[in-house]
Amino acid sequence: MPKPAVSQLADKDVGSYDSHESAAIAALAALRGGDKSVERGGGILYNPQSQKYAFTQPVGQLDGAHFSASIAVPHGWQLSALYHSHPAGQQSTLFSDDDIAQAKQLKIPSYILAHYDDKIRAFDPVTSAVTRSVNGSSSVGSLVDESPPSSTVGAP
Ligand SMILES: [Zn+2]
Repeated sequence: MPKPAVSQLADKDVGSYDSHESAAIAALAALRGGDKSVERGGGILYNPQSQKYAFTQPVGQLDGAHFSASIAVPHGWQLSALYHSHPAGQQSTLFSDDDIAQAKQLKIPSYILAHYDDKIRAFDPVTSAVTRSVNGSSSVGSLVDESPPSSTVGAP
């Protein structure tokens, strides 16, 4: 089995987000334009000293259905959440059993971007609730998706 790629903080990243939600949304939004056939992701880290969050640079592997990455957590930081993209396909809007098991094991929220509908979803391991970025009653209030739907209508 290949070693999982290591997802690391960008150089000199000291954190610039006030919540893991906003960091995850920023990280996943950046993946929207990328290669939709590869599952990519990383971690959201929290720095208790600066009280800021940052995301690690996304890594991905085209080695089947299962996403694997190891997240480098530098000294002074804590792993606070996970994020990854789901390649196109209707199933991509769902958290996989592995995603849910991982979040529950680590006791941290997990965020996904589904390329199928370009929406960001959050899974909370404490309540087992999945919140969707378009749902106004979302318990994760900042998960608001304001980007227009991608225009695939009329594509060849
Ligand atoms: Zn997944």
